[in-house]
Amino acid sequence: MRAAFKVPERFDYRALGLKVGLEIHQQLNTRFKLFCNCATSIVGDESLKESPSFTRFLRVTRSELGEIDVAAAFEFQRQRVFEYITPIGASCLVELDEEPPHPLNREAIAIAIAIARAMNSMIVDEVHVMRKIVIDGSNTTGFQRTAIIALGGYIVDEEGPIGIQTIALEEDAARKISEGSNIVTYSLDRLGIPLIEISTAPDIRTPQQARRVAEKIGLMLRLTGKVKRGIGTIRQDLNLSIEGSPKIEVKGVQRLELIPKVIEEEVRRLVGLRMIQEELSRRGVTEDEIVVQRPIEITDIVTNSRSRIILEVIRGGGRAYALKLPKFSGILGVELQHNRRFGTELADYARQWAGVKGIIHSDELPAYGIDEDMAKDISKTLGVGELDAFVIIVDTPDKALRALDVVKRRCIDALKGIPKETRGANEDGTTRYLRPQPGAARMYPETDVPPTRIVDTLLREAEKFIPPSIDEKLHRLEKIYGLSRELANQLLQSEYLSIYEEVVELYGIDPRLMAAIFTSLVGELRKEGIDIGVFEDRHIHMLARAVKELGLDKDSVKIAIVTLYQNPSIDYPTYISLLSRHRVSEEEVRRVVRIKIEENIDEILKRGDKAFQYIMGRVMAELRGRVDGKIVAAIVREELLRVAKSG
Ligand SMILES: [Zn+2]
Repeated sequence: MRAAFKVPERFDYRALGLKVGLEIHQQLNTRFKLFCNCATSIVGDESLKESPSFTRFLRVTRSELGEIDVAAAFEFQRQRVFEYITPIGASCLVELDEEPPHPLNREAIAIAIAIARAMNSMIVDEVHVMRKIVIDGSNTTGFQRTAIIALGGYIVDEEGPIGIQTIALEEDAARKISEGSNIVTYSLDRLGIPLIEISTAPDIRTPQQARRVAEKIGLMLRLTGKVKRGIGTIRQDLNLSIEGSPKIEVKGVQRLELIPKVIEEEVRRLVGLRMIQEELSRRGVTEDEIVVQRPIEITDIVTNSRSRIILEVIRGGGRAYALKLPKFSGILGVELQHNRRFGTELADYARQWAGVKGIIHSDELPAYGIDEDMAKDISKTLGVGELDAFVIIVDTPDKALRALDVVKRRCIDALKGIPKETRGANEDGTTRYLRPQPGAARMYPETDVPPTRIVDTLLREAEKFIPPSIDEKLHRLEKIYGLSRELANQLLQSEYLSIYEEVVELYGIDPRLMAAIFTSLVGELRKEGIDIGVFEDRHIHMLARAVKELGLDKDSVKIAIVTLYQNPSIDYPTYISLLSRHRVSEEEVRRVVRIKIEENIDEILKRGDKAFQYIMGRVMAELRGRVDGKIVAAIVREELLRVAKSG
């Protein structure tokens, strides 16, 4: 890979003038959805298969001022079909957009008020629902409903207060099931689940501080006891800028740990783009000399390629085109993020705007079955010199030409520095181009939902959801449940806190055992590839009930969790009988103890008082996980006593 220069990886973020704002979206655990009386739960794969579905196209609508949003226009030109699955009980005519929305869910408003109180935010007198244009098909209406509940406020960070801009209620979008190039399938179970959206001011200055603030807000939300847990129930977006750059939005950071990494990678990209701008200016590249470039067909040249992918596309009627990028040599190979180069940025644009699979660029050749000779042939055809670069796209002629036009525009933007973009967070902490940033034309009032006045009764309803302070909560966990400070702290950081309290109270289980299950045991199992993040509340209730009824100890709980993990659609009686089949009766324990004593009688006599540990170890090696250790200990004691007396 040719690269004109290397972009540094570490920065003094304060010196760069880094400013980060967070947008945290958390699903609320309300009984009903935000605008209808459907359940707020996600259905399993099996009921998804049995649910009816329908398809729709979406169209761009003009805002009240008659403008068309750039982001909306972007989606529209992709001309995709959307299929919606409508799970029974979890969707109704409101999600289908066949019935007007019901008034705003009061419970959700009350929870949002409670959170606003905890963040010193000013609650509005009247809640007005707005429509925010969303044309990626994730809303059947073509917009997302959102309502501001409170404005302003702050939370305290060790480096100073972080401002809160708005606290809003939003309807969650439909759940994406699959995505092809022309059709996207969504399930409507998630559409309309209440989300609380907390937007902070851009007061955050370092990647680590961003994580700390996100953690703090997340904990505050959990302490209301009214938020959902599990994969996909909390999503973090961030916006960031450095001195002189536009504000970049990054969507969909799923894990908190990833926040600092995403910021580091994104800052590196911004610095890199600025270095590219400087380098291009030094080389004297002008907009005009890029504009005049025309794509040239090179199908004849690449037909001799050994690349099966290229040949397959050509055999299917596709063609190859190349575009010269004057004085861009080494620029496309510049690494902007881990394993992502300026060429990758161009590929993102080509993919998003023209639907091509990817691009090939001269800085990475020879590669993809294009050898040095072929690259030279292409260079000659294009009139490419030492300092120039080129991009190849192999696809249907209309897509390939559209994609090259997009590539050209992106290269012109490189002369101007950093484009204003909405990006998506990748699993590894890098980011990818998603779409242009929506403009102000994006919001307009929802006339189907009447405003809700925040009356005194609502404020009183909110009282019970106001989150306690961390110290109060820790103290309560220590005092009521007898947990150590360390265990209480771990539980507080886990997403199982509220369901923990629920099941301990409901089934009267040993609080320390249950706390150990939700902290160390869950961590242990995750390392073995068993993530109980997929468990719904009913699974946790089944597990807790089994712990109580069968008197499971920690080893047997592990087996009970694995059993449930492997049979998620099992009912409680079947679950119990599966677990019992595995359990060992007291008679069986006694039989094993007697055999072990008999086998080791010499050792027992030799060890005297210390024989207990020895036998216990042997018996548990055989029965671990299938019986409570306390029962085994009692029987071993009895049996040893009998031997001692008879001996
Ligand atoms: Zn509904």
